[in-house]
Amino acid sequence: MTDRSVAALGADRADRADGADGADGADRADRADVLTRAVRPGDAAYERSRRALAVSGVVPDDRPALVVAARDAADVASAVRHAFRAGRPVTVRSGGHGTAFTALAQGALALDVSALDDVRVDRAARTARVGPGATSLALAQSLDGSGLAFPVGHKASVGLGGFLLAGGNGWNQGAWGSACESVRDAEVVLADGRRTVLDDASDPEAFAVLRGAGPAFPGVVTSFGLQLWPEPVVRRRSVRMRAAGRDGLTAIGTWADALAAVVAPEVELTLVLAPAGGVVASVTAFGRDHAHADELLEPVSRALPATTSAVVSSATTMPGLLLDEPARPGAGCVAQQAWSRAGYAEVLPRLAPHLAGAPSAASSVLVSSASYRRSAPPSPDPLHRPLGTLTVAAYAVWSPGEDDDANLAWPTTTLAALAGGTTGHYVGEADLRRTPDRLARCWEAGGIERVQAVRARLDPAGVFHPPPGLA
Ligand SMILES: Cc1cc2nc3c(=O)[nH]c(=O)nc-3n(C[C@H](O)[C@H](O)[C@H](O)COP(=O)(O)OP(=O)(O)OC[C@H]3O[C@@H](n4cnc5c(N)ncnc54)[C@H](O)[C@@H]3O)c2cc1C
Repeated sequence: MTDRSVAALGADRADRADGADGADGADRADRADVLTRAVRPGDAAYERSRRALAVSGVVPDDRPALVVAARDAADVASAVRHAFRAGRPVTVRSGGHGTAFTALAQGALALDVSALDDVRVDRAARTARVGPGATSLALAQSLDGSGLAFPVGHKASVGLGGFLLAGGNGWNQGAWGSACESVRDAEVVLADGRRTVLDDASDPEAFAVLRGAGPAFPGVVTSFGLQLWPEPVVRRRSVRMRAAGRDGLTAIGTWADALAAVVAPEVELTLVLAPAGGVVASVTAFGRDHAHADELLEPVSRALPATTSAVVSSATTMPGLLLDEPARPGAGCVAQQAWSRAGYAEVLPRLAPHLAGAPSAASSVLVSSASYRRSAPPSPDPLHRPLGTLTVAAYAVWSPGEDDDANLAWPTTTLAALAGGTTGHYVGEADLRRTPDRLARCWEAGGIERVQAVRARLDPAGVFHPPPGLA
């Protein structure tokens, strides 16, 4: 692919000519449709379209050869067919939250599928069909009050495309499992532009890889079929604590370890650590009914840490969880994540110096134990698995132009504090540009070989641009 990528560089105008001589019907359809809407270097809209491939206000400098906005699956197939013939690498953008900025690649055909954002719910069948550009909030709002729910991601604007392909650490995953475990099938455009449906019957191994490979999946998903869950009653208790340095964090960690050991799988515990030193424990319960939700939260107030400054209880809904925090449009954003089998009391104090030295006060570290307590084994077998008992994710959020380099580096240096105590990484929250070696640690042993084997089978010509770490 490297040779072909290089050949593609500087060929910005070549696409308009591609297929012009002796084009068959498909070529003409491609030209008349999606490619004529492509934005290329030199076009007035190019820089805006390039930057819009990620929601972060700070993006890498990579310059795609063309940015193609698909309106439907037929557009996707046309664009991929064109790239296949022209020898262009293809990248994909759904919701734009990818922490490795994999929609941006030099010389690529960048395919923006954010407009494929349909959400159709079949209440009787307890299923939904969603486009990859649909957001967590759109799905949660479509289901609100319907009696059905889905383990959507924790932030309103995260795209279901990248989220489900990465595995999906969604709300109530302690009880519902990772979101990808609730994917029944996916409509996919393959490397030669053919459209197919992948599920456990048609191609079990490709379907397993689809649920966990993240940016390494060799195809474009144009819709997902989802299994839905009974809508829960959502209750939350937020415990605000002052953290007095390492000792304070150790005490908070000891309390959190004790709480994590006794709460039911339907309780999600996340500690949010802010640079200013405060810690908020968000404890969210997903009950069958009001009484059950209250009962689930009962252990929270036992033996609270001495640094507790407030305990706030609230009733909310699945979309309400996503609307809890204000969005920061245009902010720079990058993340790094690690799994660990250590307890909170060991992890939290190690993070203290990095929190104090964070270049942006808007950044935070999230430590959550929700991912590992599901009793039933995942079925059918997805590639994605939680690789630890805690997930630790550092998110840098800052105003573009205010020390971009320091902010971009902060999540990685912060998680370096856990060195030796990590058991893997989550492909959805890994900064693979900075640490490409982490890709191989995003899956269980043999995982990267499974991904490579499916790529070799479904994309032998290497049409889909590999993420860092998979070259
Ligand atoms: C603020 C924020 C909050 C987050 N919260 C969570 C969370 O709660 N839980 C969690 O699990 N993760 C979370 N993440 C991580 C997020 O789920 C992943 O980064 C995910 O990849 C984002 O999906 P997207 O569609 O928005 O991003 P995109 O940047 O559009 O997609 C990332 C990459 O995935 C691949 N891809 C996306 N769509 C397709 C498609 N249709 N077909 C083929 N390949 C595709 C492409 O390689 C693409 O470049 C969060 C990230 C951010 C920035």
